[in-house]
Parts: sequence; structure tokens; C-alpha cells
Amino acid sequence: MTTVIEHCAIATVDAADTEYTDGHLVITGDRIAAVGPGPAPRDLPDDGTPPRRIDASGALATPGLINTHHHFYQWLTRGLAQNAHLFDWLVALYPTWSRIDERMVHAAARASLAMMARGGVTSAADHHYIFPRGTGDLLGAEIEAAREIGLRFTAARGSMDLGTSDGGLPPDFAVESIDDALAATEAAIDTHHDPGFSSMLRIAVAPCSPFSVTTDLMRRSAELARAKGVRLHTHGSETVEEEKFCHERFGMGPTDYFAETGWLGEDVWMAHCVHMSDDDVAAFARTGTGVAHCPSSNARLAAGIARVPDLLAAGVPVGLGVDGTASNESGELHTELRNSLLVARLGPHREAALTARQALRLGTHGGARVLGRGAETGSLEPGKLADVVLWQLDGLGHSTIADPVAALVLGPPAPVTLSLVGGRPVVERGRLLTADEHDIARTARAEARRLAESS
Ligand SMILES: [Zn+2]
Repeated sequence: MTTVIEHCAIATVDAADTEYTDGHLVITGDRIAAVGPGPAPRDLPDDGTPPRRIDASGALATPGLINTHHHFYQWLTRGLAQNAHLFDWLVALYPTWSRIDERMVHAAARASLAMMARGGVTSAADHHYIFPRGTGDLLGAEIEAAREIGLRFTAARGSMDLGTSDGGLPPDFAVESIDDALAATEAAIDTHHDPGFSSMLRIAVAPCSPFSVTTDLMRRSAELARAKGVRLHTHGSETVEEEKFCHERFGMGPTDYFAETGWLGEDVWMAHCVHMSDDDVAAFARTGTGVAHCPSSNARLAAGIARVPDLLAAGVPVGLGVDGTASNESGELHTELRNSLLVARLGPHREAALTARQALRLGTHGGARVLGRGAETGSLEPGKLADVVLWQLDGLGHSTIADPVAALVLGPPAPVTLSLVGGRPVVERGRLLTADEHDIARTARAEARRLAESS
């Protein structure tokens, strides 16, 4: 099956930031066959079926957006603990979260994925770290939801084993034993992980954070991930409270702690990384450790402003993340393009902090690198996976913005006219094709109510 997209602006986000004011894309099977200026060549290879031709006048084509950090289950606990910083917010929500079950996680994952898909996300990672005993296959529920909605998915199997009685933040009833967590993580890799080029599903090893996980589990998680050849993910350097916790408990800051426990490397990506010294930034750059930047969540939880311009200047791979929707109720990634630029300009680099094109790169190729998929997706280049979004920019909200990339990044959320994942349409004219949005909303609401009433 061949799809031809013509007459649109194109931002390829390739290494040279190649753009076309009026260009074409040819997609064959799940790959990009051609991208270039002007209309598509007329002599396309004949595979027996006539190509689908799309006149994309007034649209901008970009790589699909890539979400590098989320907690889908939080869809059921939005709008709570509105005025708390991270630690107080977590303590307020842990008791509710520890009552989730498989049906709830499935409903929350469908809603989270549907919301992102409608907003131009084609690849998503989720960090799930709460596994109450006897509540079913929670990771499996997320995987099933991702398959249904049709997004490329990285399921980061999280864990917590440091309860309050051992000096951690989560209550004891919300944590697993170290052996249970490692065994379940290994089983998830063996059952689900697909390392192939076109993979729709990868598993990562993802203990939650320094204040909810023992040093032993951090170390053994890193060993497991490396023995299996999968990626490592965790939260790091998010707040001043976390920094204080690390100094008091480990006698060092978070980045030194990560270095000690085997958690810096090209196969690691870490959420937040707000409170970083120059030495910390250099350590990330030297080791190739990636960062999932979550500007809305960092603002909502008063965590601070991540040093994204310094991370980029040092060569650190940086992608964008929604983070859980209990700390970013919007649940959308395209708004993070705008927020990453605005928030960075409030920092010391002012107007030089981040350009619109750098923001788009964070949300696309930067995210692909962070998830270890930079060679496969994240830019529009022949041979790469056909994860492509058409943003309609000739309507009320955007038609007078001079530059299409600025319209996408600085303007209001742009309507998605088409979103392809591996060449397969997932969204058309703003509508999700793979599932019924109203059903998703109804089910999520019912499950949120069931959770609220379950205490
Ligand atoms: Zn998070």
C-alpha cells in the first residue's frame, strides 16, 4: 500500500533541519519511501493497487510526536492535590493509587493514549510502578490498550520497594518485594519485548525513584536490563526535596548516586533532571544518558526549570514528556512544545534559550533518541518508519502566523488532519479511527468513580 502526501509544508527534523515550503512524502508499507520539494514523482513503483493520494494544502507535515514519560493510571486521579509540591502530592495520592486494578489501568491507558494520539503523538512511553497484590495484569492492560489505539509503545515496568518503615516515601502497602519486582520485570521482557526495527512494543526496566526504591533494587534492575539488552528508565533530580533526601540518606546528590548504582549510560533515560549542577550535566553528556523533559508537570508541582539549553549545548539527548495526568491534567504533548520554549526563556538564557525548531526537535527526534529509536523514527527521511502527522494550519487559529513551525509551536493546539503510525492512519480530521472516544471517556469516568469509592 502506497500513500502520497502532496502540497504541504514539511519540517523533516533531519540532521540538517531540512524544510520544504511546498513538498511531498511517499509512504510504502510502514516506511517512508521519499520526501522532497514540489509534487511527488509521477512514476511511482506499481504494486498492483493505486496509491492513496492526499492533497495536504494548508498543512504542515512533521514526524509524529514522541512522548518519553507518562503514568497512564493517573488519568483516574486528575485534579487532586492541586496545591502541593511533589512529596506532599505523592503522599496525598499513594493511598488511592494503591487500590488500582486491571480494569482501571486499562481504562486509564486507553484514555491517555487516545488523548495523545488525537494530539499528534505516534510513539508513547509509560512508566508504571504501582502493582497492588492480586489486582491482575496491570502492565498487560496497558499493552492491550496501546495495541488497540495503535501507537508505538514503550512499557517501562516500574517498581517500588522502599516503604515508609524503611525510610522511603510510599506507604508500606504500596510497595513490592525486591524479588517479586525483578521476577515480574524479567517476565515482562521475556513475554513482550520486540527489539525489531518496526517494533510496536518494547519493555524497559524502571524502578521509580531514589526515594521509593532501595539501592539494591536500583543496582539489580540495572544488571537485569543490561543482561536482557533493554533500556533503563527512572525519575531523577526532580525537586530540592529529592536532592535533600539523597544527601541525607546516601551522602551524595542524585546524579552521583545514579553513577554509583550503574544508572548513567547510553541505555538510560531519566525523567525531569531539573536540579543539575554543571558537573551533573557533564556526567550526563559524557555517558550519553537521556532526559525526558516535562515542563508542565515541573511547573504544576513547583519543581523548577530544567536546564534544557545547557543539556542540549553539552550534547545530552533530550525528549519531551507529558508526565502523569495527576500532575499535568492536559495529557497532551503538543502543548509541551510550546511550554518547553516558554519555560526555558524564563531561565538565564532568556530569548536565546530555545527556538521553535529546537522545541519541535525535542518533541520528535529528541524523543526517539531518548527511547533508543533515533535510527528508526523521529524524522522524515527515506527508510525510516512512516510515523507522520499533518497539522492543519490554514484555519482561524493559525492562518496569519508567518512560519508554519512557529504556528505549530507557538500557536494554539493545531488540528491533526492525519496521523500515521507505520503508515497506518490512526487519526483523520481530528477523529480517532481506532476506538470510540465517547466510549473511552465514559469508561474512564466510571472507573475513576469506582476508584474514588473503593477505600
Ligand atoms: Zn513521572
